[in-house]
Amino acid sequence: MLILGLESSCDETAAALVTGDRRVLAHRLAGQEAAHAPYGGVVPEIAARAHVEALEPLIAAALADAGVTLHQVDAIAATAGPGLIGGVMVGLVTGKALAHAVGKPLVAVNHLEGHALSPRLSDPDLEFPYLLLLVSGGHCQLLLVEGVGRYRRLATTIDDAAGEAFDKTAKLLGLGFPGGPAVERAALLGNPKAVPLPRPLKGSAEPHFSFAGLKSAVARAKDDHSPEDLAASFQAAVVDCLLDRTARALDAVPEAATLVVAGGVAANTAVRSALEGLATAHGRRFVAPPLWLCTDNAAMIAWAGVERFAAGLTDPLDIPARPRWPLDPSAEAVRGAGV
Ligand code: ATP
Ligand code: MG
Ligand code: FE
Repeated sequence: MLILGLESSCDETAAALVTGDRRVLAHRLAGQEAAHAPYGGVVPEIAARAHVEALEPLIAAALADAGVTLHQVDAIAATAGPGLIGGVMVGLVTGKALAHAVGKPLVAVNHLEGHALSPRLSDPDLEFPYLLLLVSGGHCQLLLVEGVGRYRRLATTIDDAAGEAFDKTAKLLGLGFPGGPAVERAALLGNPKAVPLPRPLKGSAEPHFSFAGLKSAVARAKDDHSPEDLAASFQAAVVDCLLDRTARALDAVPEAATLVVAGGVAANTAVRSALEGLATAHGRRFVAPPLWLCTDNAAMIAWAGVERFAAGLTDPLDIPARPRWPLDPSAEAVRGAGV
């Protein structure tokens, strides 16, 4: 089986070709950091235009890298949401047009399912069910992954996502954009114990996450400490909160033999190694995708396409793009935030 995957939900344009036996034949990616950096965040209109310009050449390059033609793919998988609607539409409409042109099925992929299943691309031994900590730019959730399309949300954030907290803290500290890698680099040079910061919801009986208070505390401490000490202390507080909440969830799902982390924040070394220690302490296996598979890419979309296509899940060409699309639609909104 051979699937072409397309990703355009935020500020990465990407195309990849992945086989049913987990070979990534090609993965091409065009970031837009330079276009958005002057604004300190992703500007939706700029992102959509950049996707239009970048996507077709990337698809051509990916096909050339893999040495295949469009007629050889079994299906075309495109992100259909959630994300910035202008960008999502660029990838989805392109996927539909290609599918129609070569008479192949379309698989409309939930971007979050791309993140959620990505560890099964890099680790052939990862079986369902597993406990997933999904930590990305727009999400911070604990999910019991029971199968393809079967997600039970155990926790979410009541305010900011984990990646959002990294990005806002980086902006506050003048470390630049994108924020996560910048904070991680600065943190290496600082003392994680230098700045006393809160651990929102740590030890709480409710299962959820909160990061807004942490960011405000960094803002208040800003004038009295170096950016490096602030970055290191902030990162340590985030790791502490992630560990505490994940430990609670591990106790709630003894059926999950493996703890998995995915999403852009899973590229953070401190986060990965702390979670690995937690899994070991709880007698669970730990799986984290390689760094390039954590942040947005099209290989994870192609892989979700592989899994869905293998399960017989294809979509009609009139399927709409969705700006919001929860993985667990039955989960309640929490204090009006964090679906
Ligand atoms: P979502 O997947 O929720 O729709 P997104 O696609 O924008 O959001 P991802 O690409 O999965 O998010 O992840 C990007 C986020 O990951 C950003 O917030 C970024 O700061 C964060 N991030 C990336 N690398 C690191 C790192 N090394 N340390 C901490 N955070 C990181
Ligand atoms: Mg990005
Ligand atoms: Fe993402």
